[in-house]
Amino acid sequence: MAEQDLLTVSVVTPDGNVYESQTRLAVFKTTVGEIGILPNHIPLIASLEIDEVRVKVQGTDDKFDEIAVSGGFVEFSNNVATVVANSAEKKENIDTSRATKARERAERRLETAKQNNDVDTAKRAEISLRKAVNRINVSGH
Ligand code: ATP
Repeated sequence: MAEQDLLTVSVVTPDGNVYESQTRLAVFKTTVGEIGILPNHIPLIASLEIDEVRVKVQGTDDKFDEIAVSGGFVEFSNNVATVVANSAEKKENIDTSRATKARERAERRLETAKQNNDVDTAKRAEISLRKAVNRINVSGH
């Protein structure tokens, strides 16, 4: 396969490079909808939802690497898609019991904040809850 038929997907966080691979297709959940990027796509930059990034594994028809990302953005140019996020985990590195505990904590915080009409705390708890639920979903549990 010619080099130009592939794009590179790189996921970086403040902790370092979480994922890098070459692929024929990567799928991103942006704040304006899902986009699939193929090699030679036009340059773009988009904000990401707290969701998953899916990268087709070379040489397979339907196998995807899955990475949970906590928002951030994706920039694509010159056949390189760079995801920059505060945190990101490959599916196989997700600690599901940690995410389950985080979900329970966030649910409790959200409930208390609602009772106290504490909008800011409720918003933060909602984000924590979405991150935890996303990790649980991506881990497949
Ligand atoms: P927790 O409350 O469990 O710490 P969090 O949402 O506050 O979760 P983050 O601040 O988003 O955690 O991430 C801190 C670091 O821990 C990052 O490196 C992130 O990749 C990692 N991390 C968080 N939760 C998990 C998990 N369930 N499995 C694996 N790594 C995780």
